[in-house]
Amino acid sequence: MNKLTVKDLNLKGKKVIVRCDFNVPLDEQLNITDDRRITESLPTIKYILEQKPAKLILMSHLGRPEGQVVPAMSLKPVAARLEKLLGQKVLMLDDCVGDKVKASIASSSETVVLLENLRFYKAETKNDPEFSKKLADLADVYVNDAFGTAHRAHASTEGITHFLKSAAGFLLEKEMKYLGMAVENPQRPFVVILGGKKVSDKIMLIENLLKKANKIIVGGGMAYTFLKAQGINIGKSICENDKLDLAKALLDKAKAAGVTIELSEDYLVVQDFGKPETKKYVSGNIDNDWEAIDIGPKTIEKFKKIIVSAKTIVWNGPMGVFENDAYAGGTKAIAECLASLKGVTTIIGGGDSAAAVAKFGLEDKMTHISTGGGASLEYLEGQALPGIEALTNKPAGGCCSCSCC
Ligand code: AMP
Repeated sequence: MNKLTVKDLNLKGKKVIVRCDFNVPLDEQLNITDDRRITESLPTIKYILEQKPAKLILMSHLGRPEGQVVPAMSLKPVAARLEKLLGQKVLMLDDCVGDKVKASIASSSETVVLLENLRFYKAETKNDPEFSKKLADLADVYVNDAFGTAHRAHASTEGITHFLKSAAGFLLEKEMKYLGMAVENPQRPFVVILGGKKVSDKIMLIENLLKKANKIIVGGGMAYTFLKAQGINIGKSICENDKLDLAKALLDKAKAAGVTIELSEDYLVVQDFGKPETKKYVSGNIDNDWEAIDIGPKTIEKFKKIIVSAKTIVWNGPMGVFENDAYAGGTKAIAECLASLKGVTTIIGGGDSAAAVAKFGLEDKMTHISTGGGASLEYLEGQALPGIEALTNKPAGGCCSCSCC
């Protein structure tokens, strides 16, 4: 990555503002039900604290308050959890910009400060320059460690970089290392596994990966549009009928590019989604009133054979309706196969594939699990991510780590 990273900065005595992704799930009592997004930002936070900054100002969004102050979307529970994780007090403010915020930071003896939810202001998602400047006015230097929002040009991800020297945190750097490696220089064979509901969400991804991958496996709901495009009867399985021509065109493009798109050959079908006891496996055509909700054993074996021959794997999208245990077998088998590999780089796109790997307790067995579903998808599609593009470039010839940085 040709961008400054947090290690390139001299942070001693500086006020450092860090964009984190603390968009954690909360239950009705506002308890955090999964604090991974906080723990994942700890390496950057702890490193900055070790550099003895004057202040470490953390900021994030939580939920979609859409420019309103919504008390249930306050970052207060995050401040409490951070205090526990860091073993030190965190000054939680009730706003994120303005003179009162500035004065509270200046008068407090605490080093770590957490600003209130950025999205309590519409100006945040509108990337309003005045709001960006107000955030920048709180600090001397900016670090972005929120990969999950790097695909959005918001005030705290893009706008602020126009006012401060801007560097990537460790989490952002790690994401770029693995996703960048897959897109730019994968060890081959490079196999991409795609699943999930819709072909339409993954058209650009397929188009871009056709230029890069050796094989593309397509399972999950999106496979049925491809199968129908090839004349296979898919019963009442999920299908985008307006994308049949596109699916055909993608299959032709793949052929021309010398990349095979491998599709499911057998499936777990049900007559009634709510009645798993009706489930059975079928190959080839599916009868009219049956719906495919997972891949079948022949397909699992076929996909596994391809997967074990790979040196780099990117997985985006489940093979079936993995949220329901009765239909999770295919996704689990593929996750376990990836987990068993040695000397292979396994990269899990965020979102549902990451949720599936977590559900099966296999997170530690993957090389990298992306923290940003949308951001990783856009990056793998070949799109530039505004939150990363906007960071300060490393000086030509590398960074000298001098006090000017
Ligand atoms: P996406 O957001 O497009 O990645 O889709 C993820 C969703 O696809 C998950 O919630 C899965 O339950 C769902 N899914 C995967 N396979 C199927 C299928 N065969 N039929 C219906 N939904 C599916």
